[in-house]
Amino acid sequence: MQKFRTVLERQLHDEHELHGMMDKETFLDCVSDNIVIISKALTSQFVIPEFRTFTDIIDKIFEKCVDNEEGKPAQYIPQLARRNPKHWGVSICTVDGQRYDLGETNIPFCLESVVKPLIYALTLNDLSPDVVHRFVGQEPSGRSFNELTLDYQNKPHNPMINAGAIVISSLLKKGLVIADRFDYAMDELKRLSGQEHVTFNNSVYLSERATADRNFALGYYMRENKCFPPEADLVETLEFYFQLCSIEVTAQSGAVIAATLANGGICPTTGDKVLDSEAVRNTLSLMHSCGMYDYSGHFAFKVGLPAKSGVAGGVLLVIPNLMGIFTWSPPLDQWGNSSRGVQFCEELVANFNFHNYDNLRHTSKKYDPRGRAVESKAQDVVNLLFSAFNGDVTAMRRYALLGMDMSLADYDGRTALHLAAAEGHESIVRFLLEKCNDVNPHQKDTYCATYKNHGTSQLTMMLSGSNMMMWQIFFWNI
Ligand code: GLU
Repeated sequence: MQKFRTVLERQLHDEHELHGMMDKETFLDCVSDNIVIISKALTSQFVIPEFRTFTDIIDKIFEKCVDNEEGKPAQYIPQLARRNPKHWGVSICTVDGQRYDLGETNIPFCLESVVKPLIYALTLNDLSPDVVHRFVGQEPSGRSFNELTLDYQNKPHNPMINAGAIVISSLLKKGLVIADRFDYAMDELKRLSGQEHVTFNNSVYLSERATADRNFALGYYMRENKCFPPEADLVETLEFYFQLCSIEVTAQSGAVIAATLANGGICPTTGDKVLDSEAVRNTLSLMHSCGMYDYSGHFAFKVGLPAKSGVAGGVLLVIPNLMGIFTWSPPLDQWGNSSRGVQFCEELVANFNFHNYDNLRHTSKKYDPRGRAVESKAQDVVNLLFSAFNGDVTAMRRYALLGMDMSLADYDGRTALHLAAAEGHESIVRFLLEKCNDVNPHQKDTYCATYKNHGTSQLTMMLSGSNMMMWQIFFWNI
């Protein structure tokens, strides 16, 4: 049975089935609700203009991870232990709402620890960072996620470990009765997901509560150390925390949540402003340093992106200002992160320059799918060739220092070297040949290669200097 993600998709499909063609009125009727996204598509204005090129690489990464059979699903409760280790899904949603799904992206699973950054963000939104951080720190703990430990101020180290998330649960809409607090959490998560799949798994909740000795121990230890707001009820707080962990999403709805975080708190599919951008920034900072259990430092080093994993096999990954990704696969590695999820993130950053510290200009071995990259490359060519044509050697030096590729060519294969030689700017020719390793003195433009002996001029330049080198430069009559 065919799936339709939007009403527009269904309308277009029905019209096509019925008539093969559609008239202008029907077309306008179909597109009017989605005119922003359609005009962006038609004018290549999306944040990833070549979406197919991008997803072709995603397909390959996804396939590579299928073969990863490391680890097994979490065993501490039967509901998680029973999950099929073969399940593997990846869902992507960009900040302008482009979607891509691979594998099992429609099967619900529990957020577990992935709920931690979400309840932290919701609490920040409501109470401000000053209030929230009176109760919880911002440092990586350097210890296991459920360790009985507090920081030097007797606070949980951060909101991404159990102690911190339990304290956050005590703060989330603390003025309301518990039933309303649960409704609030569900409603807000639903808004973050653009009203897509968010449900509650009662059997996971009951199992979590029945096997929660460590979390109860943490709760009593923190109550002894006055970690909670005075009015908090410990058992109610712990039960609320287990309920929050038992909220389910699919990889698809999770990807929209991730994209809302990537988009500064505004859901890209509904336009709903759910979170303040400051709450999002703070959340992403702590996900970056503390989101992947005891692998967080390694992950920050290798992947360099904010992420949070959970024991049900979910990984929520945020590429700020670009996209959200949610991967789901139950088998966990030795740190409790989804084996395939971590591999996917690492492969992603090996292929694309998404690492926070990838240099966007000179990371030449990686692909940058952002529209800006395409535009800025075109601008680079114009600037470089224009300066060469005008004999502006200072500008040429500046471009070289900025790491610009000095062999960039225009649509006819003409480089700065061709133009400088044709205009007789000897200082630029000398600079390009002597100082810029990426400039090839034998590079030919399109015409020269195509019509070898037609219209091609040959300029032989004697360059004075230590070696008295003779360079032959071929160029087209510009
Ligand atoms: N409910 C689990 C616990 O608190 C969450 C585990 C996790 O995903 O880290 O122990």
